[in-house]
Amino acid sequence: MRNHNGYLLRWDDEGMLFDPGEGTQRQMLFAGVSATDVTRICLTHFHGDHCLGVPGVVQRLSLDRVQRPVYAHYPASGRDFFGRLRYAASFYETADLREEPVETDGPVASGTFGTLSALRLEHPVDSYGYRLVEPDGRRMLPDRLAEYGIAGPDIGRLQREGSISVGGPGAGGATVALEDVSEHRRGQRFAFIMDTRLCENVFALADGVDMLVIESTFLAAEAELAESFGHLTAAQAGRVAAECGVRLLVLTHFSQRYTDPAAFGAEAARHFDGPIVVAEDLARVPVPKR
Ligand SMILES: [Zn+2]
Repeated sequence: MRNHNGYLLRWDDEGMLFDPGEGTQRQMLFAGVSATDVTRICLTHFHGDHCLGVPGVVQRLSLDRVQRPVYAHYPASGRDFFGRLRYAASFYETADLREEPVETDGPVASGTFGTLSALRLEHPVDSYGYRLVEPDGRRMLPDRLAEYGIAGPDIGRLQREGSISVGGPGAGGATVALEDVSEHRRGQRFAFIMDTRLCENVFALADGVDMLVIESTFLAAEAELAESFGHLTAAQAGRVAAECGVRLLVLTHFSQRYTDPAAFGAEAARHFDGPIVVAEDLARVPVPKR
């Protein structure tokens, strides 16, 4: 038996909780995740296995006196559903939960963590996938810093100002630029793709991400079923990962008709030669570093 959906992405100071299905609050306890870790609730769509955990999580935010605002993103057409989930039972609301429904394709939030965008998917009900892109930055090179004798607070000053002069009075006072002691570092990228049939936006969301969490409800033998119900097969997920240059593929959301989740990994591996994780309850999967 597997629990319903529920995925927490830890990303700098953010804790983005995607698609909390029934039992998510309980799974959070088992995983050692506290309500104060959650900064955003992101729903792809309003089928029960992707949202029936909202009432418990929302009430827990108030019970635990979460101080900072928590944002909720979900397809705007499901506003009434979210309202009912949010107020499914009586509780004393203290948490500052701010609803920011997704009206159309594009950015839904940005900050020091980067930009979170949503793109419409193809499912019998409105469904959006999410993509998170951290801005590119620079990685300091310890060898070079040592070469120029830059240490301590000077490193921060160099990062802020772009260049500093080194060497004391009489030592020549050379100017060192940030580029001399650091290299370009591409920001990390993440995509979360749930219920959908294969469509253009699946590729747009997954393009060049370090980690792709994607549904694979069916195996290729049931490709017609997948298409008609608006779902993906493991083979399609593998092809998406290969075409999009994904670094780590995480498969999840398997139909109960199958008894062995390993079959999904094996099928995807016929199309994608990178690392594949077949998600299990309470598993922790690090986002590959840049
Ligand atoms: Zn669905």
